[in-house]
Amino acid sequence: MKKRAIVDKKLCVACGCCMKACRLGAISIPNGVCAVIDTEKCVGCGMCAQKCPASVISLEVVADE
Ligand code: SF4
Ligand code: SF4
Repeated sequence: MKKRAIVDKKLCVACGCCMKACRLGAISIPNGVCAVIDTEKCVGCGMCAQKCPASVISLEVVADE
């Protein structure tokens, strides 16, 4: 089952921990306010969610295409 990370934009504090944790470079904080997941690159490994001190990243199941 394919998964991908999603960030709760309202609760993200833009600390950057998830960005450092993602080995695929799928996370950026373009506006300095909130982490954004590149859904093309994300493979749903969950490393970012584990490292988020605010616990605002969750994994959602994506339908197979
Ligand atoms: S789930 Fe994995 S691949 Fe996707 S953004 Fe998080 S660390 Fe990167
Ligand atoms: S680790 Fe969590 S709080 Fe920090 S930038 Fe990433 S999503 Fe936001």
